[in-house]
Amino acid sequence: MNIDIFKEMEKGGFEQIIFNYDKTTGLKAIIAIHDTTLGPALGGCRMWPYETEDEALLDAMRLATGMTYKCAVSDSNFGGGKSVIIGDPNKDKSEALFRAFGRFVQTLGGRYYTGTDLGTTGKDFVYASRESDYLVGLPEEFGGSGNTALPTAYGVYKGIKAAAKAAFGCASLKGRKVAVQGVGKVGQALVDYLKEEDVQVVICDISEDNINKVKEKYPDVEVVDPEKIYDVECDIFSPCARGGIINDDTIPRLKCKIIAGSANNQLLEPKHGEMLHERGILYAPDYVINAGGLIQVADELEFKDAGKRSERVLMKTEAIYDILLKIFTRSKEENIPTSRVADRLAEERIEVIGKLKTNYVKR
Ligand code: NAD
Repeated sequence: MNIDIFKEMEKGGFEQIIFNYDKTTGLKAIIAIHDTTLGPALGGCRMWPYETEDEALLDAMRLATGMTYKCAVSDSNFGGGKSVIIGDPNKDKSEALFRAFGRFVQTLGGRYYTGTDLGTTGKDFVYASRESDYLVGLPEEFGGSGNTALPTAYGVYKGIKAAAKAAFGCASLKGRKVAVQGVGKVGQALVDYLKEEDVQVVICDISEDNINKVKEKYPDVEVVDPEKIYDVECDIFSPCARGGIINDDTIPRLKCKIIAGSANNQLLEPKHGEMLHERGILYAPDYVINAGGLIQVADELEFKDAGKRSERVLMKTEAIYDILLKIFTRSKEENIPTSRVADRLAEERIEVIGKLKTNYVKR
């Protein structure tokens, strides 16, 4: 490894990084725990054929940091963590591999809860749950809260309305034009909400299958080449595919007033949040607008009784609207990018709640 690990941990404020190797299955996994001020770390497990171990470590660290901020702004009682398994999700999966991973998660005794992310599925964690009590987001038939894409899409829809209210003075989306990049699980559910409100929808995807699913349901939806999506003249651009797509190359091409979508880590670098602010493009910070899925899995951990889960999740996901309005207002008043305001809100909550713990209370 070329990374100076302790230096990176100090720079990023990390608590713990655990390297797991299982000699039976060859599992190579890294668990990064960023900050547990608010509660045990919570964050999915990504499986990816990383070319180097440095790349895997940095990805785990970057994603874990994002979870700290996402938990903090979404009023969740959890800290930030994330894990990565080095391997090809199309070739290297097995029951034993995920059970081995589950055993490593178990060794942390509840300091870290995990579930699906890119490259992993509910079925993988059904295997992991045979060895660990600290899995979330399992399929409903296995006692979990099920598909997180639905609350995520609902939160994104509410967030788009909040952004419309801030940018256009009206939350109604009727007649607006929205360009959705990526119509996978979240993107498709988002298109459903948008079409209900008579929005003019433009989509793109690299998967013909996913495009066809949307076209079958809504023949009037316009389809563009994935590379052309940045040039579409629209009111709102909604990235729902991959991260890093707001960058030096794409920003000058954008012809929208608002960016509001589900993808994680949309800004390639923090400076891109500043560039959007300077250009008057309203950016809904990704970890705020896409917190619906996290809200659902956090609820699973906080309230074992699933009876009123959907109502609680709906209520907290709807609150994304008000959180975003607060961010947009503060950004305007203080003339700073919305991405910086969101970071500050998260940091303020962590600081205040952390200080409460200086008073000893026996529970
Ligand atoms: P998904 O894999 O179901 O869908 C992603 C879609 O994007 C796929 O259809 C894929 O073909 C398409 N895509 C990939 N590269 C593309 C490109 N260059 N141009 C256009 N389309 C492209 O994933 P998802 O669950 O819908 O998640 C979408 C995004 O939202 C991801 O960034 C994910 O990390 C984020 N997110 C998801 C959730 C959740 O609960 N599912 C929660 C928070 C954030």
